[in-house]
Amino acid sequence: MKQTDFYFRHNRREFLKDFSLALGVTSLGLPLVSFASGCQPKGEEKQEQSAQGTAQNKKLGIALVGLGSYATHQLAPALQETEHCYLAGIVTGTPSKAKEWKRKYKIPDKNIYTYDTYDQIADNPDIDIIYIVLPNGMHAEYTVRGAKAKKHIISEKPMATSAADCQRMLDACREHNVKLSIGYRLHFEPHNQRVMELGQQQVYGPVKEVEAADSFVFTGNPNAWRLDKKLAGGGPLMDLGIYCVQGAIYTLGQSPVAITAKFGQVTRPDYFDEVEQSISWEMEFPNGAVAKCRSSYNDNEGLLSGKAEKGWWKLDPAYSYSGIKGETSEGTMDLPQVNQQARQMDDFARCVKENKETRVPGEMGLRDVKILEAIYEAARTGKRVEVKV
Ligand code: NAD
Repeated sequence: MKQTDFYFRHNRREFLKDFSLALGVTSLGLPLVSFASGCQPKGEEKQEQSAQGTAQNKKLGIALVGLGSYATHQLAPALQETEHCYLAGIVTGTPSKAKEWKRKYKIPDKNIYTYDTYDQIADNPDIDIIYIVLPNGMHAEYTVRGAKAKKHIISEKPMATSAADCQRMLDACREHNVKLSIGYRLHFEPHNQRVMELGQQQVYGPVKEVEAADSFVFTGNPNAWRLDKKLAGGGPLMDLGIYCVQGAIYTLGQSPVAITAKFGQVTRPDYFDEVEQSISWEMEFPNGAVAKCRSSYNDNEGLLSGKAEKGWWKLDPAYSYSGIKGETSEGTMDLPQVNQQARQMDDFARCVKENKETRVPGEMGLRDVKILEAIYEAARTGKRVEVKV
């Protein structure tokens, strides 16, 4: 059967609903599948909430916090394409950026904040959602302050640099009754969604092995925050390897139970004196499958592949913003390229408007940071580390 046949054979909504119900949720209450077309309805609430949803047609205002590379080149342009949210405000420490963004995106002065005036966002009804795009080590502080301002939050990945910080973020959002989501854009990308279907629905039988690799060659400023342990939390594992952890989990629909890992050699000590240059690790899953993963700041890779009893698949590149390519043992995946960030933000805006669960919640971010911590522990100690998520 051709990929497209399988993909479109089902009435998507019904198929996905049945599939989600069949697979259920993890012990953390996380959805195991994440390729539904909208945010996750909560059982009987569905009908009532969709009626409520039609009444809430207003676009929600998003404020981006930290106008670095990702905010500038991906999120702000994506917010020009979104249907349920728009770029309403910014938080920046650089006056020249404030001026430039104000002009380019017609942002009114009253919606422009510095890190010092950030908490005043609480008084701004134009801002519904705060999107934190700061260095990893700052996500926790800005999420907690954003929750206190009673705004819904998207935090970029990794959610934080420790599981304890992730928990603080979750607690703050619960206390202030706001939603928390992580910037896991690939849950909205058709090729990665197809891998979720192939693996979790066992289209080619049970999955035996996953291979995942995400790396780039780090050049430029050796003082960049990504090389600073406090701001980054770690090296390529925190930045890129998290996609491999995610990829393996959404292929299998399970969380790993044990991990072995090892750091690679440091060949560029001028860059990698605080964080690892590279790391490789293996994750064991409850069904006996193994995921072999690697991540490096001194290589170029972007692979997610799976082997099942009766077939295989491979995405390469798997994690890029565009140009993702996929094939299976039956041929090329014929799937559209989409604006992942626009879909991700629109989905969260809909979850807020309709009071539904996001498919990429803070709990998922915490789960992943716990796994990253276990990978580091396994690499440091040389021991097989059991994971409890
Ligand atoms: P960047 O260095 O380009 O931007 C960081 C921003 O934070 C800059 O505007 C900088 O001025 C600001 N900042 C505030 N205080 C700072 C401090 N003390 N030190 C350094 N910068 C400070 O980084 P980026 O690539 O935009 O990454 C930002 C976040 O987004 C990270 O958490 C990263 O993991 C995440 N990210 C996610 C994706 C994705 O595909 N989801 C892609 C890229 C980055």
